[in-house]
Amino acid sequence: MDKSSKERCIQCRLIIQDCICRDISAFWTEHKITLLTSKREERIISNTGRLLRCMLGNISPVYVGKKGWEKEVESEIARTDYTPVILFPTPPVCDGQKIIEETGKPLNIFVLDTSWRNARRWLRKPVLMHLKKVGLKTAPPSEYHLRKQAGGHYLCTFQAVTLFMTELRTKGFPSVSFQIHEKFTLWVKSLARERGLKITTTPSYQIGANP
Ligand SMILES: [Zn+2]
Repeated sequence: MDKSSKERCIQCRLIIQDCICRDISAFWTEHKITLLTSKREERIISNTGRLLRCMLGNISPVYVGKKGWEKEVESEIARTDYTPVILFPTPPVCDGQKIIEETGKPLNIFVLDTSWRNARRWLRKPVLMHLKKVGLKTAPPSEYHLRKQAGGHYLCTFQAVTLFMTELRTKGFPSVSFQIHEKFTLWVKSLARERGLKITTTPSYQIGANP
């Protein structure tokens, strides 16, 4: 039987037997995520932005290219309860922690959930150009073995966001990050198995691992 015709979970998109959604309750983070994505991206089974939306509560998608998307972005930027920033790994970047201390507000983190080539294009959109750029301080190896990345140090949306939440010392996050990470690992493994991919690298970094 064709693998694509197997019944899949509508959330994690794994075949039903492998579904990881049971006992997931989305964790509400103090920092908000505005997930810039596209309908095309969302349809891709290995998309990790969708996975992130199953696990985090304070997150809303904006579909780039959809009628009125720029207005949606503008109103997110205009919110007074958060400081808007954009997560992108190329220097120069600002220190997210410092921004929080200076403004006394949590962050509204814009995340580009697309291929790296597209992300670079989206970053230059006039409506996003003036956002403060933030990045990760640590650069662990990617644990996402499903799609070729443009460079070894690039992380998938899921890993980038969860690591950033950890670096920001997000309230309550340490107590859920281990479980979130475990689900992610399971999800990657299941998809890799489905595709007949062998994961040869052993992740050296684990959220919540002992120092
Ligand atoms: Zn599922």
